Amino acid sequence: MRIFDGLSKFLLVLSIAWAAHGSVWAWGSAGHMAVGHLADQLIPDNSHAKAQINAILGANGTLRDAAIWPDCAKYIQPKQGFIYKPDPKYYDKSCTIYDATEEGKTEMRDYVRRNNDNCEYSGERSNCHKSFHFADIPIQENHYDPKFVGAQNYDVVHAINAMIAVLQGHPAPAPFNIPNNAQGKREALRLLTHFVGDIHQPLHVGSVYLKPNGQMVDPDKTGYDPQTNTVGGNSLVYGSNDANELHGEWDHVSTALAGADLVSNAEKVGATSGPLQGWIEIWATESVQQARKAYEGINFGPSHPGNHANSLVWPVTFKVRKDYLTSEHEMQREQVIKAGRRLAQVLQVIWP
Ligand SMILES: [Zn+2]
Repeated sequence: MRIFDGLSKFLLVLSIAWAAHGSVWAWGSAGHMAVGHLADQLIPDNSHAKAQINAILGANGTLRDAAIWPDCAKYIQPKQGFIYKPDPKYYDKSCTIYDATEEGKTEMRDYVRRNNDNCEYSGERSNCHKSFHFADIPIQENHYDPKFVGAQNYDVVHAINAMIAVLQGHPAPAPFNIPNNAQGKREALRLLTHFVGDIHQPLHVGSVYLKPNGQMVDPDKTGYDPQTNTVGGNSLVYGSNDANELHGEWDHVSTALAGADLVSNAEKVGATSGPLQGWIEIWATESVQQARKAYEGINFGPSHPGNHANSLVWPVTFKVRKDYLTSEHEMQREQVIKAGRRLAQVLQVIWP
């Protein structure tokens, strides 16, 4: 069960780690675009769903482009009057489709302003929208449950369900603040497209919690200690000077996938069982199980202070690096294919 004591400390640790990583690109723009592009191809041109997508995004709008918008919006700076200001070190130039015009920047600003302090994230009421992209379920659980440590009512599962509700014409459930108008629908479709990608990145849902000596703990059993939080693998590092982060490695999907023809593989992905309301938790459960596999073949070393103030990192080593990378790339491809197919399926259920 969730331990509420120490929640703010938990959030503080998150804050340090996430702030340290600047703009975190789950799946990178390449992975998200691949997911959106697959759904663009899978939804028939003459379908109701495609007509709705075109009505919301405009005739030239694609899910491929929609997929990256929520990460571009992370460049909005709440503490600097909500200006749009990417850190050049982390800027992804795919965002030029949104930041080239004042209207584009205004739309991102509006969304962030409404979803900035509506939940407590990172120990403070700011940047709430950045927390919509993930959950940190301990991999020992083997499934997603909203009561587990690492689940929140603003995590990626809740975010996807909220965006589905908006696209179905219902008000966004709290804490999500998405208006029921054309702009809100556009936000919801972009967010849904992006988050369906995120929920299929295993390290965005399943996480490991480690003692200082690198031994794994289950915070749902032992009680939550913020010092054990690896922040979805952002605090797991390897290479000289701890230069590489495991989470970042998993986010990085080959750009070749974005343009690749994955359609025939995606068509083999069956529908998720049961009604739409239960699908998202099923996908999250699957990702927790995939995360468990993603953490196989890794040894966790004892923690030491990281390169960023007040952060702890655990150096990891790979039992057989080459084998690990092969499995990782296979799983990334499989997850992108599933995400694209499932995005298309969700949209066709919303607009049959
Ligand atoms: Zn994301």
